[in-house]
Amino acid sequence: DISELNLVALEVRADGPARVLPLSTGLDDHLFEHDGQMTKREIRAVTLSALAPRRGELLWDIGAGSGSIGIEWMLRHPSMRAIGIEANPVRAARAQRNAQAFGVPGLSIVEGTAPAALVGLEPPDAIFIGGGGSEPGVLETAMDCLKPEGRLVANAVTLEMEAVLLAAQARHGGHLIRLQVSRAEPVGSMQGWRSAMPVTQWTWQK
Ligand code: SAH
Repeated sequence: DISELNLVALEVRADGPARVLPLSTGLDDHLFEHDGQMTKREIRAVTLSALAPRRGELLWDIGAGSGSIGIEWMLRHPSMRAIGIEANPVRAARAQRNAQAFGVPGLSIVEGTAPAALVGLEPPDAIFIGGGGSEPGVLETAMDCLKPEGRLVANAVTLEMEAVLLAAQARHGGHLIRLQVSRAEPVGSMQGWRSAMPVTQWTWQK
């Protein structure tokens, strides 16, 4: 049973209390080991919704970072499969540790740089691009490799990546949304809205 597995996995974590994972996507950021380069909870929930996982499907998580998107994909159902592609070796190792801690050791992490690292991987049903998307050939290769009727979701925080997504939508269609999340945080003895950078998200079906 997957929930029992997750509970056990979290109990063996040294750096936090045992918790039963909720079934929702957009798990608490603190459940993941990360260095700040992570798709935050609210954006992650919307991203998983756009990726629209179906049982048994394979995801490519390009620019996997902490692995949070691939992990939440894997948690949907025991039949799910995911490959995380991450250029930074420290983050690649961290993503693999997070997968272990969440009880989804089947998340496969490829340490390498897209688009080169994508060559030869099994064609996916869905692709998330969370990093590297503005580098030459990454978006094109991803769109080529995606299975017919597969979904591609790409998030942009930088203007450069946003420009790539606006051009892609003009050329290929699909949907653009812009997300802006603010969280209440202490300002002295009171509170104020701390805004995260806005995220532009393009969703395209092949
Ligand atoms: N979705 C991730 C956060 C991604 S941050 C999470 O939730 O944790 C973007 C990541 O993309 C960084 O870790 C960076 O090292 C990686 N990256 C950037 N360019 C890349 C490329 N061309 N190939 C693979 N990874 C890349």
